[in-house]
Amino acid sequence: KAQLKVILIGSSGVGKSSFMNQFVNHRFSSLYRATVGADFLSKEITVGHRLVVLQIWDTAGTERFQSLGSALYRGAHCCLLLFDVTSAASFSALSTWLQEFLLQADPPDPTNFPFVVVGNKTDLENREVVSYKQAVTWCQEVGAEYFEGSAKDDVNVDKPFYAAAKAALQH
Ligand code: GDP
Ligand code: MG
Repeated sequence: KAQLKVILIGSSGVGKSSFMNQFVNHRFSSLYRATVGADFLSKEITVGHRLVVLQIWDTAGTERFQSLGSALYRGAHCCLLLFDVTSAASFSALSTWLQEFLLQADPPDPTNFPFVVVGNKTDLENREVVSYKQAVTWCQEVGAEYFEGSAKDDVNVDKPFYAAAKAALQH
């Protein structure tokens, strides 16, 4: 069975913990609980005909890449970059997150590392702060796949994880 280390990163409050919780436990809470340090959950999925165990690391967005960083990201097979579609700041922060991830993770082939970008919170009414087109354009520049959805309404929560796993297996 393949074991894949998946890292969830993005600014604080974008919904990383919610996204992981919805994917693994099918639950959503509107209460905000700051993640302390980092934590992982495992989930077994089938990609093609292969059983894959995803070890999903949820990290705290406020403590940016400090001592925990390098140990955490080392050995990662893929990375989910999350932003909040109602927050332009969380979208502009993506390139910094991506660069710092590559620095810390130090993968053997950084130019082809599998990144999947997720625009979260599409259930909110002011969602057009970051448009689909704007997000897709940036993703094409960095060679990442893009999904937008909602951890709250369970829209496109599974797809990014499957896409990340598939990309990591082909990598
Ligand atoms: P993290 O800091 O990235 O881990 O973000 P959290 O998962 O803790 O979420 C931050 C806040 O956003 C919490 O109050 C969540 O309930 C809320 N949230 C997360 N995902 C969604 C979503 O898809 N839609 C809405 N409306 N709120 C969300
Ligand atoms: Mg969190």
